[in-house]
Amino acid sequence: MPAHLIDGNLLSKQLRANVATRAAALTALGKRPGLAVILVGDSSASQVYVRNKVKACEDNGLHSVLEKYDANLTEVALLARIDALNQDPHIHGILVQLPLPAHINAHKVIEAIAAAKDVDGFHVSNAGLLMTGNPLFRPCTPYGVMKMLESIDYPVRGAHAVIVGASNIVGKPQSMLLLQAGATVTICNSKTRDLGHHTRHADILVVATGKRNIVTADMVKPGAVVIDVGMNRDDSGKLCGDVDFANVKEVAGYITPVPGGVGPMTITMLLVNTIEAAERN
Ligand code: NAP
Repeated sequence: MPAHLIDGNLLSKQLRANVATRAAALTALGKRPGLAVILVGDSSASQVYVRNKVKACEDNGLHSVLEKYDANLTEVALLARIDALNQDPHIHGILVQLPLPAHINAHKVIEAIAAAKDVDGFHVSNAGLLMTGNPLFRPCTPYGVMKMLESIDYPVRGAHAVIVGASNIVGKPQSMLLLQAGATVTICNSKTRDLGHHTRHADILVVATGKRNIVTADMVKPGAVVIDVGMNRDDSGKLCGDVDFANVKEVAGYITPVPGGVGPMTITMLLVNTIEAAERN
């Protein structure tokens, strides 16, 4: 029997309705939640991402500011802008769209964002809080994956979760969230020997590599939950994930589609983090 789809658009709709209610309550108190999004350069993919984030804010009652800068903006000028936003009482969340141009040190820029406004959860103090089990902000993509598991009432406690990909923005924070939820976690990277040996033992398989078709049907345990974080283009230019969806869906118990899976959840959890920041404030 083909896998059940975990519909990220549908789940997002439900979660965004809750965001809109909370945003309206804060606005009624004169504390409308605000997100600043900074884009440096003219990458077309980044332009789409920031446009979607700003639109999601507008659609759900949050105040948003999109600041677009030329690719030759200096690091000093960007740090000064972040400093001003850190002080701005109308802004509760600050997001700098990555990647930044090569002459700007992304690490330095992220560290300049006030930890209490770091709604992406990438600041080292937020990474440390997550690691020690007391997160202030959960990074949006892994947080969205946890909500997807929650939506199917999946018993994460005691399950074996295998994460393919170990980046700071997806794989590593995902491993922490799953570990804290009681899973036994295996993290794979590009040096992992015999990837299939690991993935075949997964009750929950999260794939985030940016490598199309890296997970095929023979690498999946029957009935497993397969969460595809990847965003790639197929030969005809269509958006696709890291998982061979057509064949894996015949083996898995649950699967997320691309598009319409983790992507919308990432934006939804950015809204949730911004609301949480404004409520704390
Ligand atoms: P990244 O920083 O490039 O990290 C990729 C990770 O995959 C690395 O840890 C790398 O291992 C690992 N990897 C690469 N090839 C592998 C292989 N053959 N076997 C096992 N592991 C392998 O990428 P990212 O930022 O995490 O993003 C990953 C994908 O998710 C991309 O397609 C990105 O567009 C997508 N993404 C989607 C969303 C969303 O909202 N849907 C959000 C964020 C990212 P090493 O550590 O050894 O290099």
